[in-house]
Amino acid sequence: MSVQVVAAKMAEVELKDVSAGKAALPAESPVTPTSEDKTLARNEPQKEAGSSASAATSPTAEPSAKAGEGSRGLLTPSAAKMPQASAMKHTDPQQNGGEAFVNRDGTVAEAPRMKKIQFADQKQEFNKRPSKIGRRSLSRSISQSSTDSYSSAASYTDSSDDETSPRDKQQKNSKGNGDFCIKNIKQADFGRREIEIAEQEMPALMALRKRAQGEKPLAGAKVVGCTHITAQTAVLMETLSALGAQCRWAACNIYSTQNEVAAALAEGGVNSFSVFAWKGESEDDFWWCIDRCVNVEGWQPNMILDDGGDLTHWIYKKYPNMFKKIKGIVEESVTGVHRLYQLSKAGKLCVPAMNVNDSVTKQKFDNLYCCRESILDGLKRTTDVMFGGKQVVVCGYGEVGKGCCAALKAMGSIVYVTEIDPICALQACMDGFRLVKLNEVIRQVDIVITCTGNKNVVMREHLDRMKNGCIVCNMGHSNTEIDVASLRTPELTWERVRSQVDHVIWPDGKRIVLLAEGRLLNLSCSTVPTFVLSITATTQALALIELYNAPEGRYKQDVYLLPKKMDEYVASLHLPTFDAHLTELSDEQAKYLGLNKNGPFKPNYYR
Ligand code: NAD
Repeated sequence: MSVQVVAAKMAEVELKDVSAGKAALPAESPVTPTSEDKTLARNEPQKEAGSSASAATSPTAEPSAKAGEGSRGLLTPSAAKMPQASAMKHTDPQQNGGEAFVNRDGTVAEAPRMKKIQFADQKQEFNKRPSKIGRRSLSRSISQSSTDSYSSAASYTDSSDDETSPRDKQQKNSKGNGDFCIKNIKQADFGRREIEIAEQEMPALMALRKRAQGEKPLAGAKVVGCTHITAQTAVLMETLSALGAQCRWAACNIYSTQNEVAAALAEGGVNSFSVFAWKGESEDDFWWCIDRCVNVEGWQPNMILDDGGDLTHWIYKKYPNMFKKIKGIVEESVTGVHRLYQLSKAGKLCVPAMNVNDSVTKQKFDNLYCCRESILDGLKRTTDVMFGGKQVVVCGYGEVGKGCCAALKAMGSIVYVTEIDPICALQACMDGFRLVKLNEVIRQVDIVITCTGNKNVVMREHLDRMKNGCIVCNMGHSNTEIDVASLRTPELTWERVRSQVDHVIWPDGKRIVLLAEGRLLNLSCSTVPTFVLSITATTQALALIELYNAPEGRYKQDVYLLPKKMDEYVASLHLPTFDAHLTELSDEQAKYLGLNKNGPFKPNYYR
């Protein structure tokens, strides 16, 4: 089978033998599985893409894939056609009621719910820092994602005793390099161990590294990144570096940086990184760090990896000329993707951009599996609750709701579901859950979980009727699902009992347990599984490789989805972890289904 992982060095390259349980890459690719690559390659690779059945003629062929521009890959002179990423329709979610919008390929994407983009004062001089008080009092101007806490357990080291701002410290690593700004370089060893733990659960990136030991598909790439700086990101950065890229990095969130990991990156393993980030940055620090990444003599980025769009927009506002050298933007978040659409719609997007957020491999795994794995952790860490026999109502039976329900059911909870959509409602019924209206169960349940992506799902009238000790939390994107504001009234008392845990007490003594003030429970109060992040990180790496190596004209100044084949490839790279054995289509079967034996196996709109 052939999965085209375009990117010059990987581009047009055929990925073989996914069907044999092997992450399939062409023999010619620098990321081709080698015989030593035991974890990935347990079976012999196929000779060549077997079927002549054209995806284009398939009834399930990608409707929008402009397959086969036919440009040749740098590594593999394959004549095989390559799936081009499909440009996304510039649909304004606002015109769709802010709920969902339909992409050109027929996929329905969640409409971003985000604040309007604002920027810090462009004239701000970063060398003249405001005082601490001044820094705190700066008006909010960073995106929501940059202030949403990603994980309360983000940093395992306690650096709260050191009040000195990293910006006021002389910083040098053991090699004398000082081109970074982090909390404490002495934490590097600890951070290195964290990175090594993450590596265990990020098999695809490790495989890409191994295979890129010869040719480097990112040689010459200068990637400026703005993402959560965690052990998982460190694995991604070190992979990009192994693929040949130079990286400079800032945090996309002022709370989420793992200080020890930032230290390990600045100290360096094979290469040291110019990292500008620490946990608990002020807003001024946030922009200063981004600026230090891009505003450097003798170094200009040619690729952007962004999560939330702040970096991209900083460059647009401050250094628009940099876009002359930039080959593409890879964006991970709903928020950032929405910003890209806005730019594109306004005709201001001057380079191609990859929307990684809407990749099937991100949506399917981030929403369903990530929540299935983290809902119990978030509840347990905050409340020590026992799940067996507890009555739980889950509002919304989409991907997130399905994950939460499955986890709770497995623990012996009695789970009720509320839904507005009869299809998801029917799924809930057939999965064995009682479909109810919230009002019907609100008095009896022990736990209420929202995951609708909607607003005002749990209102004050519901909160008034809950029983004593009821736990209330949200797993949806924004804190609009539970009407927390309605609880800030004089007759109710708030008691902070733990970090992220409030008791709200009624005059008669009844108390409810509100978690994370209605913000995303798992991202606020627990960790998320590294393996899921691995899938997203691999997609990001491939998107960078693709954009960096794409021949002139393949991508225009537009927002693109990754080709289905690349999604399939990302999945295939993770299969060996499970010792999974994928079935290969016979020629006859491929013909019968109208599929290419090497994929894609589903149309682009399939989710
Ligand atoms: P989805 O669209 O698949 O599911 C949401 C479901 O809620 C839909 O079936 C919809 O019909 C239903 N719904 C809407 N309004 C409702 C209401 N008033 N009452 C009952 N049901 C209602 O979306 P999803 O992928 O499940 O994501 C849900 C939310 O979780 C989104 O905001 C998403 O951004 C967020 N999310 C969270 C995480 C996390 O780690 N916590 C991960 C991914 C996504």
